[in-house]
Amino acid sequence: MTPSLPTVHLVGAGPGDPELLTVKAIRAIRQATVLLVDDLVGDGVLRYARRGARIVHVGKRGGCASTPQAFIERLMAAEALAGERVVRLKGGDPFVFGRGGEEAAHLRALGLQVEVVNGITAGLAAATSIGVPLTHRAHAHGVIFVTGHARGDADQLDWPTLARAAAQGLTLVIYMGISTIESLQAGLLQGLSDATPVAIVQHASLPQQRDARCTLADLARTVAREQLGSPAIVIVGDVAAALGAIAAPARRAA
Ligand code: SAH
Repeated sequence: MTPSLPTVHLVGAGPGDPELLTVKAIRAIRQATVLLVDDLVGDGVLRYARRGARIVHVGKRGGCASTPQAFIERLMAAEALAGERVVRLKGGDPFVFGRGGEEAAHLRALGLQVEVVNGITAGLAAATSIGVPLTHRAHAHGVIFVTGHARGDADQLDWPTLARAAAQGLTLVIYMGISTIESLQAGLLQGLSDATPVAIVQHASLPQQRDARCTLADLARTVAREQLGSPAIVIVGDVAAALGAIAAPARRAA
């Protein structure tokens, strides 16, 4: 019998509220002896780690530069090969804008097994936290998850084209859009009307959640006035005006 290969778990920690973890995620976290944790993982999630587990923060918390991706991948592989039960804990879902795909490919190339555990992605949590039904059939027949943060200028998204697609009845859920909010707004206004409803949700699902609603014409102004910063989701489309019609979940006490 060949011994089974070491397994690394890539686990989605959800948007921050520990009650939004999956049962599978909690089980993996409990069993881990080494956890490599991203910035956006809420502290509440780590309460499930066993006493004595090694917790390595690999994000940009505290203003430090984030840990290089290659280092994270090497560390995961080394710990797993040394017999540790390694959990790579990532905000939201590991395969939604989280480099989970790169990490899984790298680990598999090293001969390790990778098990991926879904998490609730921030775009879904943000919408639900303010009562926005992303595909309410009276308003939208689809949804586009998109990042406002391209890898480089050459990768820059064509916002006007995306806006024209959205005008056909698709809701846009924009991750990492705050730092480029002005150019994003200008691009979207080339394909969507000034009056298109928008919602912005910062720290979705956490006690410090803040949100604002406005029209597309007022997006950048609203972000500045309300001092909304990262991490935030921007929701663009008629569903963002369907607010109040549907109950949002009870907010957790601070
Ligand atoms: N894998 C993650 C996304 C990582 S990219 C997921 O599936 O959610 C990081 C971006 O996610 C942030 O810039 C922000 O746009 C969004 N984000 C993550 N957590 C968030 C939260 N609690 N509230 C609002 N946006 C969040």
